[in-house]
Parts: sequence; structure tokens; C-alpha cells
Amino acid sequence: MPRQFFVGGNFKMNGNIETIKSIVAHLNDAKADPNTEVVIAPPSLYLLLTREHLRSGIEVAAQNVFDRPNGAFTGEISVAQLKDSNITWTLLGHSERRVVLQESDAFVAKKTAAAIDGGIGVILCCGETLEQREADKTIEIVTSQLAAVAKEVKDWSKIVVAYEPIWAIGTGKVATAAQAQEVHAAIRKWLGESVGSEAQEATRVIYGGSVSEKNCKELAGEKDIDGFLVGGASLKPAFVDIINARSS
Ligand code: PEP
Repeated sequence: MPRQFFVGGNFKMNGNIETIKSIVAHLNDAKADPNTEVVIAPPSLYLLLTREHLRSGIEVAAQNVFDRPNGAFTGEISVAQLKDSNITWTLLGHSERRVVLQESDAFVAKKTAAAIDGGIGVILCCGETLEQREADKTIEIVTSQLAAVAKEVKDWSKIVVAYEPIWAIGTGKVATAAQAQEVHAAIRKWLGESVGSEAQEATRVIYGGSVSEKNCKELAGEKDIDGFLVGGASLKPAFVDIINARSS
């Protein structure tokens, strides 16, 4: 079975009621390829607003979730609360959380397990710094981030892996199609060896890092690139061109 093309939009800490409503209205009216699965991740304050206004067929993701079911965890949101609000996905392990908020591989893995056990999908981010790439450690870093999750999670059917080289995020410096394909193929091989043949075949591995309407078609032509996680460009009308990257 071919893997369904997947495009996520990560709004990060951007937008307000007016701009988010306008992005949603644009998406509702857009001619988006029906073969692409689309999920957008607004800031948590706007999750319900987004879900309320967004047409069915496009899903909404949180940018983070906590690993405990409820209780005295000020500032956190649980998987059950997301489900209750019809928020069916979450991002986890974004490099901005790993780097700025010091989230460890083990913590990301625990939160991934909580999300999967609770029945929501996870866009699981991984990626290397420029220093690590230059030291030829890209595959080692990425697979060790994923291995932490494999320790906690056996069923990867609701995980989309987002390979996001940190040096390409928000920098305008996109990985070449060949650079991205090389890492995606390595992730797929790792999935086969460490999770199983079904995960190797079926798991979507998407690319993130300065994806735009200009570079998306070339990247989408690579055999192991199953879609994109888009930051800056997801706030712009050109997001629709990225959703349509595989359409003629
Ligand atoms: C991201 O935040 O996941 C991302 C890929 O950002 P950008 O597209 O802006 O590089």
C-alpha cells in the first residue's frame, strides 16, 4: 500500500484570533489535494477555536502534551483533554522544545507513549544540529532519538516521524533533496530493524526545515519523503501549494 502524503503545519507561538481564523478560512476554501492528509498545530490557546472553524477532513494537533492523565501539573494539557476537544494529533519532540525547554529523549518517549496509549496520533520530531552533521553524526543522533521512543512504544501505526535538521528550521537553509532522502532512507531502515517490517513499510517519514512552495516539489519527488512538517510557510497562503506538492 502506498503511504498517504502527509503535511503538517506548525504555527509555533504565532497568530491571534483574527489571523488564525483567516488561515483556517483560507484552508477551508482551498483546492487541496484530497489525497494529502493535512494536520495543523496552532498554539494551545487556539486549539478549540481552530477545531470549531476548520472544515472536517483536516485535523488539528497540539504542539505538545503531558504524559500524566490529570492532576497537579500547572500549565500542562493531558491526552484525554485533547481527545475531549476533538484534537486528534500532537507534535512531540520538536527541536525548539528539546533545545529551548531542555526536553530529554526519555521525556519525549514517555509523552509519545501516553499519546499513543490514549489514542491520538503523534508527529514525532527528530533531527541533528549543524555541529552534529559536520561531525558525521546525523544518523546516530536521529536513530538514538527514535530508539528512546521504541523502548516505550511498540505500535508505531499512529506515529508520523518528522525529520527536521535543526540547522534548516526557520533559517531558509533547506536540506537538499539528496540530503533529506539519505536520512529518510536511514530512518526507514532503522524502523525495519528496530520496530518491524510493517512499521518500515507503513510509517510516514516527513521532512521539515524551511519547506516552501518553491522547494516542496523537488523534495516530494524523493522515494522516502512522505510529506512535510511546515513552520513559517504554514502561516501563509502558499501552505496550500505545499499540501499540493504531489499533485500535477
Ligand atoms: C518547524 O517548526 O517544524 C519547521 C520546520 O519550521 P520552518 O518550516 O519555519 O523551518
